[in-house]
Amino acid sequence: MFRRSIYKTPAQLRSMVEPGLITARALDAVRELVRAGVTTGELDAAAERVIVDHGAEPNFKLVRGYHHATCISVNEQVVHGIPGDRVLQAGDIVSVDCGAQFQGWNGDSAVTFVVPDPGRPEVIARRQELSRVTEGSMWAGIAAMASATHIGEIGAAIEGFIEAQGVSSVSGETYGILREYVGHGIGRKMHEAPSVFNYRTPDAGAEIRPGLALAIEPMVTAGGEATFVEDDDWTVSTVDGTDGSHWEHSVARHEGGIWVLTAPDGGAAGLAPFGVVPVPIV
Ligand code: MG
Ligand code: MG
Repeated sequence: MFRRSIYKTPAQLRSMVEPGLITARALDAVRELVRAGVTTGELDAAAERVIVDHGAEPNFKLVRGYHHATCISVNEQVVHGIPGDRVLQAGDIVSVDCGAQFQGWNGDSAVTFVVPDPGRPEVIARRQELSRVTEGSMWAGIAAMASATHIGEIGAAIEGFIEAQGVSSVSGETYGILREYVGHGIGRKMHEAPSVFNYRTPDAGAEIRPGLALAIEPMVTAGGEATFVEDDDWTVSTVDGTDGSHWEHSVARHEGGIWVLTAPDGGAAGLAPFGVVPVPIV
């Protein structure tokens, strides 16, 4: 049976720049709205508006049985939360996952926000630290993609970064990595082969070489790694009730280096601590 190559041509990678940027703009619109009192449905509507205004379509709506432009996961929810009437509260930790399909090519990205709460600085500090560790592990994985020869090195970099954080300086909690949910190839479809594990695996995995486009997306908890799917059949929450965070970018490896498709700066700021300079796709 014919299987599409996981490696794309330079022209195909170039086609992924615009959907990546549209995805980034949608998440920017969400960022501007996040505050206590807003509903997750309002955030979803803002993201969808940006995507549609750019002539793109929300690729989450192309997932069978899903009817929203985003997944919005609050507190002990880690991923796949359904936006709706839920009102964000001061101190909530909120992960927003979004994607756009433009002219047949896809972007996929997620960010975590912490809603300010002046009355509970220790809660804010703990949740911001969880988000920062998760984001840092994502950048460690992306940075690995610049020099790694096999996909397994990305997961090793993600897990190594999280291990190096030790326990939370605020709460004393250790961090957990979701095992059942992973990153993926991206291109004509939002979800393509290969899987990108967020932890060390016995297999080296597929070869990393020019043409590879991956969504790298660690899902991290401030406690145990066990999760369950809530009664809505989508939302993934921690069994122990600890907080979750999710960060994601779509990244291309090309002849010149790597470029983060869902970051307007190509990932320059996030990669700087790792000594990696992204190179535009030409
Ligand atoms: Mg995503
Ligand atoms: Mg994804």
